Amino acid sequence: MSFIIGNTKVLSDFKKAKETGRLSHAYIIEGAEGSGRLTLARAIACTFSCHSENAPCYSCDTCKKIMSGGHQDVRELIHLDRASPIKIDTVRELIKEAYIKPGESERKIFIVENAQQMGIPAQNALLQVFEEPPKNVTFFLLTTNRNLLLPTLKSRAVTLKTEKLTDETVASEIEKRFPQHTGLWDETVILADGALGKAISLLSEEKTSDSVTLTKEYFSKMKEYASFSSLSMILNQKSVPDRASLFNLMTYFTLALRDILVYNSGYDGKLMFFANRETVRILADRMSESKLMSAYDTVCTVIRDHAKINLLSALSEINMAMCDDFQR
Ligand SMILES: [Zn+2]
Repeated sequence: MSFIIGNTKVLSDFKKAKETGRLSHAYIIEGAEGSGRLTLARAIACTFSCHSENAPCYSCDTCKKIMSGGHQDVRELIHLDRASPIKIDTVRELIKEAYIKPGESERKIFIVENAQQMGIPAQNALLQVFEEPPKNVTFFLLTTNRNLLLPTLKSRAVTLKTEKLTDETVASEIEKRFPQHTGLWDETVILADGALGKAISLLSEEKTSDSVTLTKEYFSKMKEYASFSSLSMILNQKSVPDRASLFNLMTYFTLALRDILVYNSGYDGKLMFFANRETVRILADRMSESKLMSAYDTVCTVIRDHAKINLLSALSEINMAMCDDFQR
C-alpha cells in the first residue's frame, strides 16, 4: 500500500500534535505542482483517523480509504481546471457539511486542492468558518502559492510546506516505477526538480514523455551539423500531431535553449532540461548567441500563437531558426 516519501518532519510533528491534542483548525499546504501536497494532506488525515497502534499505518481500512480519497469524513474538493474558479456554491456546500458531525471518525477533515482558485467571495465565506470553527473540524487548503490567498485567510491558518526531495530519491523512485523509460530517467529528474509527482506524471503521460524524447533527439542532432532537412526529419507532422503536442514540445525547447543561453553567459547554475553539462557545453560552442536568441524568439512566438498557427509552417519556422544551412 502507498507509503509516504519525504515530508517526514511535518508528519512527525502531527503525530506529536495528536498526542497533545494541539491541532489548528486550518492549514495551508504550499508546494510546487507534483510535490505531494494532496498526499501529505491525506497522510495527516490518516495520522488522526487511524486506530492502529503505530498510526498512521497506511494499510488499515481507514488509511486505505483516506489515501484513495474515499473516506466519508475526509472530504476532498479537487479542482483541476486552472481556467475556472472554484464556485462559491461549492464552498458553501462544504461549509454546510462542516457543521454535520463526522460519521466514522472523531474528526472531520476538508481538503481543498488548488485553493487559490477560490474567488474572493468564496474565500470570505471560508473565512467566517475559520473565525468560528465548528468543533473537531480541520481544513487543509492546498496551493502552489499561499500569497494568492486572502491575507485574512492566511493569518488564520498554519502554513506547511512540502519538502523538496533530493534528485537521488526522485531517481530511485522512477527507476523502480518506470523501468521501460531508462532513456528519460536523467532528464526527468532534472525536470522534476525535487517533485516526485511531476516526474511520475511526466513519465506516465505519453504525450509528455514523447515531447521530452523528441527534444532530446532534436538537440542531439544540433550537436552535429544540423541541416534543415535533417531537423525536419525529426520534427515532422507525424511526430507533432496536434497543437497541444506542439505547445508541450515547445515548452521543453525553451528550457533546453535557456540552458544553452545560460551556459553561454558564463553562469554555472542548475540546468533545467539537460542532464549532461557536457552536452550543453558542446551546444553552446555550436550555436552563436545571436542564433540562440533568434531561435528562442521563434519558439516563444510559436508558443504564443500555437492556438491559431498553421502546424506545418510552425515546424518549418522552428527548423529554419535552428538549422545551419538556411540564410534568413
Ligand atoms: Zn491505518
